[in-house]
Amino acid sequence: MNLAKRIARLGTETAFAVSEDARAWASKGNAVYAFHLGDMNIHTPANIIQAAHKAMMDGKTGYAPAAGIPELRAALAEDVSKARGVKYGMENVSIQPGGKPVIGKFIMALMDAGDEVLYPNPGYPIYESQIEFLGGIAVPYGYVSTPAGFRLDRDRIERAVGPRTRLFVYNNGQNPLGAESDDEEMQWVADFCLKHNLWVLADEAYFDIRYSGTSKSIVSLPGMQERSVILYTFSKKYALAGWRLGAAIAPKEIADVISKLNVNQESCSNHFVQIAAVEALTGNQAGHHEIIRTLKERRDSLVECLRAIRGVSVFVADVTFYLFPEVTEVYKRRGYADQQQFRLDALHQTGVSFCSRSHFGKPAPGEDRVFVRFAYSGIDTPRICEGLQKLKAYWES
Ligand code: PLP
Repeated sequence: MNLAKRIARLGTETAFAVSEDARAWASKGNAVYAFHLGDMNIHTPANIIQAAHKAMMDGKTGYAPAAGIPELRAALAEDVSKARGVKYGMENVSIQPGGKPVIGKFIMALMDAGDEVLYPNPGYPIYESQIEFLGGIAVPYGYVSTPAGFRLDRDRIERAVGPRTRLFVYNNGQNPLGAESDDEEMQWVADFCLKHNLWVLADEAYFDIRYSGTSKSIVSLPGMQERSVILYTFSKKYALAGWRLGAAIAPKEIADVISKLNVNQESCSNHFVQIAAVEALTGNQAGHHEIIRTLKERRDSLVECLRAIRGVSVFVADVTFYLFPEVTEVYKRRGYADQQQFRLDALHQTGVSFCSRSHFGKPAPGEDRVFVRFAYSGIDTPRICEGLQKLKAYWES
């Protein structure tokens, strides 16, 4: 079959392969402790479900405007403005069926074939996939592990930028590391993007999944709102990933282009889901607070259990629902040379299923430390403890 050449450049979420391994193992009657996927086993708050149900019964089942219904665009503009300390209006909001579509549309709107895009690696795999699929050159940058946690590898970023670099993907509250910038680092990113005249995709998928402190957006720094597109999602904050709702928050001209892409691709986002999202933003927030409480309890248990394993170290991430422990010592002690084998053996010996670093991009030359990603959004605290006890016994044996 003569598929278009660009299909060969289309990537995927390689973590789905880990789900397949876990499913295959579970289908043989084995217990599986699922730490591999960023999906949530927490229910959408009842007030949001009720609002969707009512909207459906009220007949909100037809097409909606491509950019989203005005009530939601206005509510989101207000919410995002308040949380980020800037001023957006509804003309800056383009509602999307999830946060993920913002990635491709941002790139389509601002990148020409042959342009270079700086993106995080390890990072969410869809950046690289979309950059390359759309004819750009994906240029990875990484992080360094410091006593204060993961920090951007500034030397590598400086080395990677060139005359063809147009875009910078900045996932503060990072998947898979759980890394976030302190004020000084965020200012450095802003200065860097201003100096090199780069557009920024501010992927803030985890902005509201925070356990202490306050989230800060790069758009709040001088000169950045004008050159940034925020990826906003309802998926995590309100545990409704499968409903598919998010938004691009951008300068009006870009928001209009993104909405025009909607006209061409999806027509619109689901009407009754948008009405439910107005309730999510403006209604009772108890559901969201309970989601955060539940996730924090899980994170604290997971940190404690991981730290109890000889040869494992982990930073406590205050954002996201991921931990990225270093397991180099265990890996070496057990004589591994293949990270997939290391992962599969853990699954088959203990039922504990996690992603390895290579599910988030190709490791850089010379990267010799071994990290794995644990997501705790889809597993309850007692199961976290049970699984980790098995893993401890196995890795220490
Ligand atoms: N960005 C990052 C960093 C993510 O981890 C995810 C989902 O896991 C997304 C964007 C997209 O999420 P959604 O399409 O569910 O809004």
